Amino acid sequence: MRCPFCSYDDTKVIDSRLVAEGGQVRRRRECLDCAERFTTYESAELLMPRIIKQNGNREPYDAEKMRAGLLRALEKRPVSVEKIEAVVSQIEHALQAAGEREVASMAVGERVMEHLKQLDQVAFVRFASVYRDFKDLNEFRDEIDRLSKEPQTDKG
Ligand SMILES: [Zn+2]
Repeated sequence: MRCPFCSYDDTKVIDSRLVAEGGQVRRRRECLDCAERFTTYESAELLMPRIIKQNGNREPYDAEKMRAGLLRALEKRPVSVEKIEAVVSQIEHALQAAGEREVASMAVGERVMEHLKQLDQVAFVRFASVYRDFKDLNEFRDEIDRLSKEPQTDKG
């Protein structure tokens, strides 16, 4: 690390300890050139990547937007709010774990679709219609009807 006093390129760590209940490492450092001492705090950075929209614009990740998209797809479907929240946090966790600074909105959409496919087929098709460019809307509606008529095992 660069010395904040003389801008020399290297410093040595003379003390290192966990602080903030183990969430941070506090390091006492000494400049190898001017011998000034200073302290740094290190913590894991779990940031959400910025979202690259289809037109190339970047925008901050917005949990409310993802939630709204899921709720729209799952409108009047037998899926609990808890399950929807679980999907939101699983996707957020996956995005954080990937560690990319930017991610295409399409890639986020694909992740949402993977989850919806497991959760509710009708919601999956509704959501897919927004993210995938369907050429034939009638074919798309037929698919929704077909899925809607499938017997539900969780009714009664
Ligand atoms: Zn220095």
